[in-house]
Amino acid sequence: MKRYICDVCNGLGALNNENYDECPKCKGFGHLNWLENIFGKDISKMTSKEILKEILYKESIQVSNEIDKHIVKTLLKKEKKK
Ligand SMILES: [Zn+2]
Repeated sequence: MKRYICDVCNGLGALNNENYDECPKCKGFGHLNWLENIFGKDISKMTSKEILKEILYKESIQVSNEIDKHIVKTLLKKEKKK
C-alpha cells in the first residue's frame, strides 16, 4: 500500500522540533496510508459504513485520484452483506 508523508507534520510525527507534541493527524507515525492520509489515524475508530460515506463524499469533491477503487469496492461489498 502506498505511503504518504503526513502533510501536517511533514513526516516528523510531532508538531515541531522543540516540543514533541504528538501530531494530531498521524499520531506520531509521520506517515499514513491513503485512507489515513484523507481521514487521519482516527479512522480506526470509524465503522466501515462511516468510512464509506466519507469516501464517497470526499471523492465527489477533491480526492478521486487518492481513492483506491478496489478498496472502495471491497467496503461496498462488506456493507451489502450486513
Ligand atoms: Zn503528522
